[in-house]
This record gives sequence, structure tokens and C-alpha cells, in this order.
Amino acid sequence: MRKGLLIVLSGPSGVGKGSVCSVLRGRMPELVYSVSATTRTPRQGELDGVNYFFKSRAQFQDMIARDMLLEHAEYVGNYYGTPRDFVERTIAAGKDIILEIEVQGALKVKEKFPEGVFIFLLPPSLDELKQRITGRGTESVDTIDHRMNVAVEEMNLLRHYDYAVLNDEIDQACHRIESIIVAEHCRKEHY
Ligand code: 5GP
Repeated sequence: MRKGLLIVLSGPSGVGKGSVCSVLRGRMPELVYSVSATTRTPRQGELDGVNYFFKSRAQFQDMIARDMLLEHAEYVGNYYGTPRDFVERTIAAGKDIILEIEVQGALKVKEKFPEGVFIFLLPPSLDELKQRITGRGTESVDTIDHRMNVAVEEMNLLRHYDYAVLNDEIDQACHRIESIIVAEHCRKEHY
């Protein structure tokens, strides 16, 4: 059986990866979404096992020690990581899976799965990015500044990706991602 695609959607925090993924869910119901583990506190409305698997630092360290994560990264004081088993089982079953993760983690996935499809979501501008992070209303001023500094560094890593998708308008961005996935399925290497 042909393996499924491992698709990584990455880009700076606030660029709209989460919103793009929710719209994609409606447009591409056959795509499987990886649920990450994190030590961050749940935001209002977030559910354990749906948005994230919420873990203590000790539980997270234990997952690392037992090699249960495909990648993990420390981001603005918290750990985030992708459970390995679910990803491997999904692609082995011939289904496509999408990982919505930050840039350092994406580069680690690339080392292990160079055949993955790496998509970098771009904000229309850095000003717009700051407005989006601030507008979310869930972060303190220090966290916003920290996230902006990280974002500027992350933009320099675009060169490691296969595709750059501008998130100027969410439906357009989703349409571009959908087209990339369709094109990846048509690669001659698969035939
Ligand atoms: P947030 O705290 O806003 O939910 O996420 C912060 C950042 O962590 C976002 O850029 C998000 O994409 C990223 N992230 C979420 N899950 C993972 C993961 O499993 N691994 C890595 N490396 N980053 C993740």
C-alpha cells in the first residue's frame, strides 16, 4: 500500500496556522490532524486530547525519555511535541497527516522524514503579525515581544521548506495548501 503524506504546516506564531487548519478540516475532511503534547496551560475552551494533550513538565520529560515524540521543541518557556506513534501508524495506513508545529520542530521532522511536504505559512507583513498576536488577547506584553522576536528569527528559516504560502486571506491560503497536496499526490515518483 502507498504510504500517506506527512505534511508539516509551520511558520511564526500568530501567522494563522491554527485558523488555517480549522478551515482545512472543513475542506479536506480526509486529512488526519496530529494532536501535540504541551506543558502550556490550556486556554479558555481548549480541551485535553482535542487541542493538545496537556502534560506536566515531568510527564513531558518522561515522553522524551521513552522516545514517544517524533520531535519536540521548547517554545516561549513551554514544551511542545508530536506523538510519534500516531503519525507513523497514520501514514503506514495510507492516510495523509498534517502537523501544525513551530519552525524548530519542523526542521527536526525534516531530518527524520525528508520525504515529508514542508509548507511555510507567511504573514502579509510583520506589522500584521504583531496585530494578530496582540489581537488574540491571551498573551502578556512580554510574551508578545518574545513571540515577535522569535517570529523574526523564524522567517529566516523559510529556505529549508518546500513551499511558501501567503496567509493574506484564509480561504486563499487553504486553497493554495489544498493545491499543494493534490500536486504532491500526482508526483511521478508515486507511479
Ligand atoms: P500555542 O501556544 O499558540 O498553541 O502554540 C505555540 C507554537 O507551538 C505554535 O507555533 C504552534 O504551531 C507550535 N506547536 C504546537 N504543537 C507543536 C508540536 O508538537 N511541536 C512543535 N515543535 N511545535 C508545536
